[in-house]
Amino acid sequence: MSELRKDLVTGRWVIVATERSKRPDDFRPASAEVRDGAAAFCPFCEGNESKTPPEVFSLRRPGTSADGPGWRVRVVTNKFPALSPGEAPPKSIQGIFQWMPGTGVHEVVIENPDHGRELADLDHAQITEVLEVYQQRIRAIEENYHYQYVQVFKNKGREAGASLSHPHSQIVATPIVPKRVKEEVYGSERQFRNGKECVFCRTIREETRIGERLVSRDADFCVIAPFASRSPFEMVIYPLDHSPFFTSVGPDARRSLAMTLKAALLRLKETLGDPPFNLVLHQAPNPAVSQKAWPGIEATFHWHIEIYPVLTKTAGFELGTGFYINPVPPETAAGFLRGKS
Ligand SMILES: [Zn+2]
Ligand SMILES: [Zn+2]
Ligand SMILES: [Zn+2]
Repeated sequence: MSELRKDLVTGRWVIVATERSKRPDDFRPASAEVRDGAAAFCPFCEGNESKTPPEVFSLRRPGTSADGPGWRVRVVTNKFPALSPGEAPPKSIQGIFQWMPGTGVHEVVIENPDHGRELADLDHAQITEVLEVYQQRIRAIEENYHYQYVQVFKNKGREAGASLSHPHSQIVATPIVPKRVKEEVYGSERQFRNGKECVFCRTIREETRIGERLVSRDADFCVIAPFASRSPFEMVIYPLDHSPFFTSVGPDARRSLAMTLKAALLRLKETLGDPPFNLVLHQAPNPAVSQKAWPGIEATFHWHIEIYPVLTKTAGFELGTGFYINPVPPETAAGFLRGKS
């Protein structure tokens, strides 16, 4: 099992792989080349189910059995999990150092059986099913209140951190609420106190009125190039209906989200030529935790999806200061993404 270690000064937790730790040779560029060639064996392709850990969940044709072909979306435990199941014990303290065993969940959502069809290439019904699987897994994982936060994310392309090219996303549940999520939770709480309304709802209204950073909007969702985008062509998908929990999205809105997500990913593809990207779903922490720690969170937090094309590298200035230098104004990015510059 890995370890969670706390940086005393910043309060940031780090997952340290104490077992199966890598050797210096593993970081040489050549060793990364092997896995992703066109002819490379893919454990996520239909027919290779025995090459992954057993499935946790799947949507599959009636009459087919678990860990065999016939699935449309398949969820398995990550073969090299960052965190492993178990009850979160109290933090251990050794002198000034704080740590705890790396308990949690690390799953892979294989989005479809076809190796060559990315999320953006799937039809609306298929994307809707992927979203439904995210919701089902979040609900199931959150039944264990030790798992304080469930992060759904997708890395597409090696530069974005994907080690296998078969379309997939990941779910990691952590035994603490991560610092980045706390920043959003506390930040939106503070803004709520100042503005007497959800800051995300207000942002949606203002961005719709101004228009120049609005990429798209329909009856249920909007896509915005954020005012203070950290990286070029960053996009955020907001539900127009206020809710802190992604799990509250019903069947109609789920279909609508599938259309918005597909359109947003196709815009990226068309504008930037299929770039690598990271996608993250931000929602309120596990309701069991949220209700205790942030009793007002129903009103203050608003779930959303952030999409970051990987076009620049994080470098010294960003590491040193937390400041980002974005070479493309979001107003310009939104124009390109809408299809006119
Ligand atoms: Zn594959
Ligand atoms: Zn809101
Ligand atoms: Zn966020």
